[in-house]
Amino acid sequence: MKRRKTTECQICGREYDRKVKFSRHHVLPKRYFKGNGKVEEICRDCHDELEFIIKKQECKDNKRTKLTAKEYHVIFVLYKASKGG
Ligand SMILES: [Zn+2]
Repeated sequence: MKRRKTTECQICGREYDRKVKFSRHHVLPKRYFKGNGKVEEICRDCHDELEFIIKKQECKDNKRTKLTAKEYHVIFVLYKASKGG
């Protein structure tokens, strides 16, 4: 039987091993969308950077505000493109 689990980051393409940690990113943040929407399997490094970008986009007048679902998708797609994915 073949394992169906993804073995590489969907953004930077690195394979998971002891150095590259696997993680799951909810394109639509769980805190706003309760786990709905796409889940992408990406490495910890990409995940941290992506969360940082999202946080910056959400911050208006020092408060975090919810963006639209479309905006979260755009952030993901642009980030992925910036990494050549
Ligand atoms: Zn990655």
